Amino acid sequence: MPESKNLLSLDRRALKEYLRQLNEKDFRVDQILNWLWDKSENNIENFSNIPKSLRNLLKEEFYIERIKLETAQHSADGSIKFLFSLLDGEKVESVYIPDGERKTVCVSSQVGCALGCLFCATGKLGFKRNLKFYEIAELVRFIRDYVKERITNVVFMGMGEPFLNYDEVIRASRLFNDNHTFKIGARKITLSTSGIIPGIYRLAEEKEQFKLAVSLNSAIQSKREYLMPIAKKYNLTDLRKAIMYYFTRKRRWVTFEYIQIPRLNDGDEDIKALEAFIEDIPCKINLIPYNPVPGAPFRAPTEDEIKKFHSKLLKFKYTVTLRKSRGRDIKGACGQLAYLKSKE
Ligand code: SAH
Ligand code: SF4
Repeated sequence: MPESKNLLSLDRRALKEYLRQLNEKDFRVDQILNWLWDKSENNIENFSNIPKSLRNLLKEEFYIERIKLETAQHSADGSIKFLFSLLDGEKVESVYIPDGERKTVCVSSQVGCALGCLFCATGKLGFKRNLKFYEIAELVRFIRDYVKERITNVVFMGMGEPFLNYDEVIRASRLFNDNHTFKIGARKITLSTSGIIPGIYRLAEEKEQFKLAVSLNSAIQSKREYLMPIAKKYNLTDLRKAIMYYFTRKRRWVTFEYIQIPRLNDGDEDIKALEAFIEDIPCKINLIPYNPVPGAPFRAPTEDEIKKFHSKLLKFKYTVTLRKSRGRDIKGACGQLAYLKSKE
């Protein structure tokens, strides 16, 4: 007899294949996915619209095991930061960010990250492993049930580099988009990359309109290399080409994330380089005040510095939004919670 498997590890395609072998109709796939991801049912016996014989077969071959909550920290502004244990005990975090009608979950794609950006707490953890698509989906499912709200947006801005775990990230995104599970529009699912160029080309060829965000942080090659070592491998010229290609294929605006680090990337020469870089890329710029992490040689910008930099960027032809700092009191920035945990 084959070894018993976690039923969550079957995506739509795998489930369809499995059920076809049993001569089952395709609508059973919708039903099972709905039990797993919409109703959060943990007991196959309770899949009441599935015939008893099929339930028995499923029970023989599968079990259902889910991630576990470690901690949930509530911020005064309504955001909640979660730390979860995966099935092998590794820890990842995820953040819930309510904003009016919009309920966003920020998910992780890897345990740690290999890219070691200087400003990032996750980078300091190093790389442990990739998340499976169902572990990523579990983050959103758990949080949805916890807050009892429909999740409208998902952003891959937690721990890890989504384009270095491309296949699982796309499988998770498809599950979020599925009509029988999370029903989140593809346009409301954002993949944020530090600039892994092959991933941008691949995303441009996907049939879904998933949204691309690129962490730019500097449009000056030497500074970008200093802040983000991966920029040596994927330089700004090639990155620009890839982003233009993505736009021509998809006709979707790109978002650039730009962390303001005072006196490092917010001077006049930085603004000039940034303006030249985005020149004809239809985009939105998301300005993020640097959130200090232990061991990094930077300080946070003052309110005054943020205001000054922001107002200069507002002269650009594209929209520049200032990301509200959410959950600062609960250490809301990427990777910080798991980092602090690892130091305990
Ligand atoms: N690896 C991907 C996605 C995870 S990082 C990427 O780099 O895009 C998600 C976002 O958090 C990035 O835009 C990153 O620049 C930002 N971030 C990381 N550390 C930060 C910090 N200390 N303060 C503010 N933003 C930070
Ligand atoms: Fe990795 Fe993104 Fe953090 Fe860089 S910013 S270390 S790519 S998670």
